[in-house]
Amino acid sequence: MAIGTAMRLPLATLAGAVIGVVCALGIGWGWHYLNPGHSDLHERLHAVVPLDNSEKDILQAKEQLFATRRGEIEARLRIANRQLADAIAADPRWSPQVEAASREVERAAGDLQRITLEHVFEMRAGLKPDHRAAYDKALLDALRNDSP
Ligand SMILES: [Zn+2]
Repeated sequence: MAIGTAMRLPLATLAGAVIGVVCALGIGWGWHYLNPGHSDLHERLHAVVPLDNSEKDILQAKEQLFATRRGEIEARLRIANRQLADAIAADPRWSPQVEAASREVERAAGDLQRITLEHVFEMRAGLKPDHRAAYDKALLDALRNDSP
């Protein structure tokens, strides 16, 4: 009995710590590759190469579509992280529920990476040719500087 009581607290504490780490990892998962230094690659590219008015006209609809799709996927990622936390809280082991929840986190994070890259290329296509060199440099620097 004493052992059972003694074990309960550390397990609960461990579960709390694991949930914190997993939530941070899950949220961070999709961002690590495309958002070096915890900043947003998309915002960074817009800051480095501000769109002029004609580029804004060309890209406006694509920017809005990207923002909508990104918001939807970020909502999925938050839900998936919550499900992962709930699964770990219910049973802090590698269980089928934890695996299923972690796969959903991976799917959402992967979708977020893919639509961000797609948008990075559609932005590039909408830039004037003489703005593309600075854009390419910012993109490659961001990705390379974040490489392990
Ligand atoms: Zn954009």
